Order: sequence, then C-alpha cells, then structure tokens
Amino acid sequence: MPFLIDTHAHLDAEVYAGELQDVVKRALQDDIWIVTVGSDLASSRRAVEIAEMFPEGVFAAVGLHPLKVPADVSAQDKVLDLEGFRQLAQHPKVVALGETGLDFHDLALDAPGDPARPLAEKIKKNQINALGAFLQLSKEFRLPLLLHCREAHAEMLDLLETWDKTSAGFDARGIVHCFSGDWKDARRYFNLDFMISVTGLFANAGYQADLIRKVPLQRLAVESDCPYLTPDAWSSRRSEPSFIGRLAETLAGIHGESKAAVAAQTTENALKIFGRMKRLV
Ligand SMILES: [Zn+2]
Ligand SMILES: [Zn+2]
Repeated sequence: MPFLIDTHAHLDAEVYAGELQDVVKRALQDDIWIVTVGSDLASSRRAVEIAEMFPEGVFAAVGLHPLKVPADVSAQDKVLDLEGFRQLAQHPKVVALGETGLDFHDLALDAPGDPARPLAEKIKKNQINALGAFLQLSKEFRLPLLLHCREAHAEMLDLLETWDKTSAGFDARGIVHCFSGDWKDARRYFNLDFMISVTGLFANAGYQADLIRKVPLQRLAVESDCPYLTPDAWSSRRSEPSFIGRLAETLAGIHGESKAAVAAQTTENALKIFGRMKRLV
C-alpha cells in the first residue's frame, strides 16, 4: 500500500516538460502514488500516456473540465467526444472519470438585463449537459468521478441527488476535488457516498480548518492539484505531488492525529474509490 495517494495532479502541464521523470521520481521515492487528470480529450490522452510511462504508481483520469465546455452548442459535440472518452475509459490505468463538473465563477450575473446573461445561461446549461454525459459514462464503466465544482454546489448536488435515485448499486462515487463548499454541502456529498479532497494551499493557509475538523477522516482525500496550487499562498514555486506530505501533516494537526494515521486513512479512502488501482496494490 502506498504511503499517500495524490488524487488530483496535472502532470501533462507544460511546466513539467523536460522534468517529468524527476517530478514523478520524487513522489515515488516518498511512496506517493499519483492520479494525473485530463481536462479535455487531448490532455486525457496525454494523461494515459504518462500513466503508461511508469510501471508503477501513476494512473490517469479522463474528462472534460467545465471551463473547456464551449458556449457554442454545435462545437460542443466535437469537444465532448464521448466515443473518444469511452475508448480511453477502457484503459486499465484509467481509474476515474474527470475532471468534470460545474464552474459558474465567471457566470454569476445578477442583473436581469445584463446583455451577457443569455450567453452565461447557455454556458451553464452546456456544462450541466457535459457533466450529465460523464455521469452516464461513470455508470456504464463503473468508474468513479473526480468532480470540479466552483460556485455551483446547489446545482451540482441537485443533479447528483437526481442521478443517485436512478443508479442504485454503484457505491464508489468519487471525490469532489479542491472542495469549496460549506459543511451543509459536504454533508449532502457524504450522503451520496462522495468524498471531498483538499489541497495544501487552502489547508495550510488555515482557510478550511473548521470545516476539515468536522469531516471524518474516512471522507477525506488528499491532492496537490499541481502545478496550479502551491502549498503556500505566496510561494512562487510550482507545486508537485511530492509536496502533499506537508498537507498530510497539516490535516494531522487539525484532527489531532498522527501524520501516519492520516496517511493510512486517506490512502485507504482513495483505494476504496479507485477500484482499478486497488487491484494493483
Ligand atoms: Zn479543478
Ligand atoms: Zn485540476
């Protein structure tokens, strides 16, 4: 069993070009396994290629990030190439679908007369449709979901609760990554058998300490979301999977547990979610 599992990394990011081997080696040396996550079809293919490069400890998730879902419906079919994703989903190193989800951060337009409103509504609808397609794929392949959700927890939870009623028997639902909701949202995700994951940036900065303290360790996963989120708010250094050891320390401090206990529990959680990975442990 690995020490920690970074459940959300973007190893296909250009910033790693030329040093990917070293970045992965540093994580594997610390016994940290990695799920590298795609954000569209091309980067999902790349994620699978990267997972194939390493005989052990690197896995892929394939999906379409909500911010990559276009407003143009006719273009959407091409971007949302379900056949392409369906092929990738069958690869033995693909352990989840994602990232997929909803991101309404730039779409919050309160004024009813705002000229940008119809376009924003259209984009939201397209994101919801794309997410729905991935929920279907998740059911079809019995693969868990890595969800991205920003300023859309109410819509996301409504959709998942509706889905839950029509897909009985699938219990490894997935992880809401870089969790940004409140305790009420978290509880609704837990009722749906989802876990949440937090990054070093937010946890180490203490933003979510009160929330994290309430979350049972059995519901928590760890992630770097590298290269995007560094462990320190003001660090100019790009992040990488080997940094999540510090996150485990922070979580241990918040929960009054040892780092080893947090690592063992979050790893067990991740293996429960990623069934295809578990077979290789
Ligand atoms: Zn994300
Ligand atoms: Zn991400």
